[in-house]
Amino acid sequence: MDMLWQYQFRIILLGDSTVGKSSLLKRFTDGVYSDVADPTVGVDFYARSLEIEPGVKIKLQLWDTAGQERFRSITSSYYRNSVGGLLVFDLTSRKTFEHIRDWQQEVSEHVTPHQMLYILVGHKSDLVKERKVSREEGERLAAALGIRYVETSAKCNTNVDRAFEMLTCDIYEMMKRGEISAYEGWDGVKCGFSARALYLPQEDTEQEKRCQC
Ligand code: GDP
Repeated sequence: MDMLWQYQFRIILLGDSTVGKSSLLKRFTDGVYSDVADPTVGVDFYARSLEIEPGVKIKLQLWDTAGQERFRSITSSYYRNSVGGLLVFDLTSRKTFEHIRDWQQEVSEHVTPHQMLYILVGHKSDLVKERKVSREEGERLAAALGIRYVETSAKCNTNVDRAFEMLTCDIYEMMKRGEISAYEGWDGVKCGFSARALYLPQEDTEQEKRCQC
C-alpha cells in the first residue's frame, strides 16, 4: 500500500504583524498571492507535502498565528508542539529585523524540553528600493543564531519553496541523526504507518547526498 506521507512536521511562522507570514504560507500551499491582506481569514493551519528524497514524503503542517502576534497572546502550546520555526522579518522594516532575537528568545523559553529548529527569512525581497536591511546583516544575524538565512518574496514567488525545503531538510537530517524523534504527547513530529517510515541506516551515504538542500 502506498503511503501519503511517512512523517509529519509541525512548523510555525514567527515574526511581527504584517511581515508577510500569511502571504508566505498562501504562496507555498496554494500558489497564490494577494496585495490585500484578508484579516477575516482566520485559518489556523495549512498543509503541503514535500518529497524530501525519492520515496520519502513529509507532510508539513504549517501554523499561522492568525493575527494573535499583534496582542502577544500566542499560547505556549503553539510553540511547544512544533519542531520548526520560520523567523520572518520584513526587509523594508528595521524594527521587524531587530525583533527577531526577541521572537527566538520567547519561543526558546516555551519549547523546553523539546528541540526547535529555525531558519531566518528576510521577506519582501521584491521591494528593492525600500530595503532597510542588507543581505550581509541578515546573514550575520543568522550566523550568530546558528541558523540558515534566505530572502523571499511571496509576490514574485522567489525562494518561497526553498525556505520551507531548507528547514524541512534540516529537521529531517536531525531526525536521521537521532537528535529528534516522534513521541506520544508531542505534535512536533509524527510518523506515518508505512514500513518505509523506518529509517534504514545502510542507505546513509546516498540519502545524505540527495538531501543537501
Ligand atoms: P502577516 O501579518 O505577517 O501574516 O502579513 P501578511 O501576509 O498579512 O502581509 C502583510 C502585507 O504585506 C500585505 O499587504 C501583503 O500583501 C504584503 N506582502 C506580503 N508578502 C509580500 C511580498 O513578498 N512582497 C510585497 N511587496 N508585499 C508583501
